[in-house]
Amino acid sequence: AVAPNDLEAFWMPFTANRQFKSNPRMFVGAEGMHYLTSDGRKVLDGTAGLWCCNAGHKRPRIVEAIQKQAEELDYAPAFQMGHPKAFELAARLAAMLPKPLDHVFFTNSGSESVDTALKIALAYQRAIGQGTRTRLIGRERGYHGVGFGGISVGGIVANRRTFGTMLTGVDHIRHTHDLERNAFTRGEPEHGEEFADDLIRVIQLHDPSTIAAVIVEPVAGSTGVLVPPKGYLKRLREICDQHGILLIFDEVITGFGRLGTPFATDYFEVVPDLVTTAKGLTSGVVPMGAVFCASAIYEAFMNGPENMIELFHGYTYSAHPLACAAALGTLDTYEEEGLLTRAAELAGYWEDAVHSMRDCPNVIDVRNLGLIGAIELEPIAGEPTKRAFAAFLEAYERNVLIRTTGDIIALSPPLIIEKSDIDVLFDTLRGVLKSIP
Ligand code: PMP
Repeated sequence: AVAPNDLEAFWMPFTANRQFKSNPRMFVGAEGMHYLTSDGRKVLDGTAGLWCCNAGHKRPRIVEAIQKQAEELDYAPAFQMGHPKAFELAARLAAMLPKPLDHVFFTNSGSESVDTALKIALAYQRAIGQGTRTRLIGRERGYHGVGFGGISVGGIVANRRTFGTMLTGVDHIRHTHDLERNAFTRGEPEHGEEFADDLIRVIQLHDPSTIAAVIVEPVAGSTGVLVPPKGYLKRLREICDQHGILLIFDEVITGFGRLGTPFATDYFEVVPDLVTTAKGLTSGVVPMGAVFCASAIYEAFMNGPENMIELFHGYTYSAHPLACAAALGTLDTYEEEGLLTRAAELAGYWEDAVHSMRDCPNVIDVRNLGLIGAIELEPIAGEPTKRAFAAFLEAYERNVLIRTTGDIIALSPPLIIEKSDIDVLFDTLRGVLKSIP
């Protein structure tokens, strides 16, 4: 066996794990709302793993589904063959999304879902004789995974600096962040839908006949929980419609109940042309993603010369039997326990809890929507991220798992959370923020 302190030699830890060697943190088990650590502690999961374990941990339906599937069929070649659970899952998912989003393409992650959606958008535009539309538009401070497509349309500054713009012709619209900052807004900001008009600026800059699609996270997650103002997404939809531009919602975080509706498209009552998902699809148990697209898009490009098959687009593990079984077990759990609407039931309690943090030391903003919360801390001068990372470590010592991004604490618990867990989470965080300089 390898001692924890030797691990760094073999594994390339990322982000906060950089300090792994001096402070090894290992999970060896998980159940319900809790992780079990290698030093025998039970840690309350305030982040659903990484925004993904929406049904909580070690849920019987999901475990059984995977076990049974492993004994039945391990793998079916994704390009030549199908298997019944892939069709069953696609049909169930299609029934969950608003019309006309009724075609599903399976991937293995959020990043793959984003690449797939961008490719479908470009291929569709060619299929309908709009081949000049090659430009893709994202948002500043957007996050769409780590593939070349995702980092091109994404807004992570270090990525842009290091990799440049990987896809040519990508541009970004202004994010709504300035508006939300330090406002201690409860839920959606009342004003600011005109932020969407920055898309008009970009359209005028480039000529609309060159733009294929706009991709946005309905609520930006990884860059710090940025809730759109009321009417903002509707306005984006209108502008896209006026100019023949496809609208893609990246619902890798917001999908599967995070906002108290199955998808953010339900919550905001805006239907995009494509939706990307992953994470909550299998409650994080097995890697899987899915892209939903409108039937007209599917028909146009599947019947054209440049369809999925001609394009060779697909992954070895698309619709993997174990992933499909896990997803079906996850959907069963969501349905039986009413988890896709549970965030709506708890939203008020959660909002009060998040906002109870506003008077804690160094808190410069708090934000919330559904079962998502953010506590933004004043960065230590010249040492960005240090304060939030100290909060992460201290919370972990106190048996609570949080996630930090920059100097923002991002919270997104499993949807099975009880009010008593919410109390523990925020009581602990209050103690943490009082104890760190
Ligand atoms: N899009 C969004 C909105 C995400 O939040 C993430 C992951 N945090 C991704 C894409 C990428 O997903 P993955 O890490 O599964 O590739």
